[in-house]
Amino acid sequence: AAAAWDVVVIGAGAAGMMCAIEAGRRGRRVLVVDHAPTPGEKIRISGGGRCNFTNLNAGPANFISANRHFCRSALSRYTQHDVIDMVRRHGIAFHEKTLGQLFCDGSATQIIHMLLDEMQAHHVALALSTRVERVERSGDGFRLALTSGMAECASLVVACGGRSIPKIGATGFGYDLARQFGLPVTETRPALVPLIFDAELLERLKPLAGVAVDAAVTTGGVRFDEAMLFTHRGLSGPAILQASSYWREGETVEIAMLPGLDVYAALREARTSHARQSVQTWLGHHLPRRLAQSIAEDEHTRRFNLADLPDTRLRSIANAVNAWRVVPVGTEGYRTAEVTLGGVDTRALDQKTMAARAVPGLYFIGEVVDVTGWLGGYNFQWAWSSGWVAGQAA
Ligand code: FAD
Repeated sequence: AAAAWDVVVIGAGAAGMMCAIEAGRRGRRVLVVDHAPTPGEKIRISGGGRCNFTNLNAGPANFISANRHFCRSALSRYTQHDVIDMVRRHGIAFHEKTLGQLFCDGSATQIIHMLLDEMQAHHVALALSTRVERVERSGDGFRLALTSGMAECASLVVACGGRSIPKIGATGFGYDLARQFGLPVTETRPALVPLIFDAELLERLKPLAGVAVDAAVTTGGVRFDEAMLFTHRGLSGPAILQASSYWREGETVEIAMLPGLDVYAALREARTSHARQSVQTWLGHHLPRRLAQSIAEDEHTRRFNLADLPDTRLRSIANAVNAWRVVPVGTEGYRTAEVTLGGVDTRALDQKTMAARAVPGLYFIGEVVDVTGWLGGYNFQWAWSSGWVAGQAA
């Protein structure tokens, strides 16, 4: 005979566990199923091992979706302050790193243990290393063929995450289930992902791999002021990861290094005040040494003194710093992407509960939904908020 549950959650990630906790707290009999041998693998590797679990400033403006307003309801019902309360209750020390980003002082595994403790307190069952082979409608509920046997439930919550980092268990299973039940899925693509350059540009930029610089990066009409990192394949760092969510193939990325400094004006002024200074030396006072050298070489001005250069040459140097325009050839893809853009179409879901409008009892939460956060703790906040509201309803 099939084991009977009120709620089965597929996916023991941030969203699935939060949903299970809330449903369990309401007295529902909840089973969480995951094909991976350990729960919360993405939490474990997140935030460089310290888990940027939310952002003090989280709000709808920090999310990308075909429907910008969809996330509003869940974010306002279970907020960053609710998450912070839970983290505090579990005695987990944390700090604000920058821009409202909250990280554990210790380790991301503290967040996983917090969720597992809460699940246990609310009698949530967890089946790991368990695959879902088939899902079908059964009366008002669902019947699941699991590798461990049959299970039946009144509510089925899909919390399988997106396609990023297949190595630790990401699959397209959530999208497949959506399609099976007739829900539309928007185009998915890797996001919060490094951008890569063609061989010719890379040859020129190779010596810069590892160099970091503050920059204002603009693409798709959106600008991010954060650090940028040259890699051996192209560009990365927070400003680039943020921009990658808005970048599309063929589009230009505009990069202003030293965004707070009008380099043209400063160079003209230096030409008078430091006439005998070389371009490279001047640049080296403002930029990392290797970068200064590379720009001076590209501009064929390495050995020139500032006094030797007319305005047109100063303008060209200034543009290389303040207005570098580059067209990446692609992204590093799902192998390194932190998230997946797109997913289950929000038009098919009720924003208050995350329930599929056309399939009573079926819910989609977390990254599998077409709601994608910026870098900075927003993606976990979406997982917590959408998980919690579904846990209230399922
Ligand atoms: P997931 O956490 O991906 O969980 C999905 C679960 O479903 C997994 O356990 C998976 O094993 C399981 N699953 C998948 N397919 C199946 C299947 N067919 N059957 C059964 N189970 C299945 N966000 C932040 O806000 N802050 C950060 O610091 C941060 N750092 C990150 C660092 C990295 C390297 C990466 C990759 C992502 C990071 N993110 C961060 C993004 C964040 O981890 C995700 O947005 C978040 O984990 C999504 O939660 P989720 O529960 O929807 O999905």
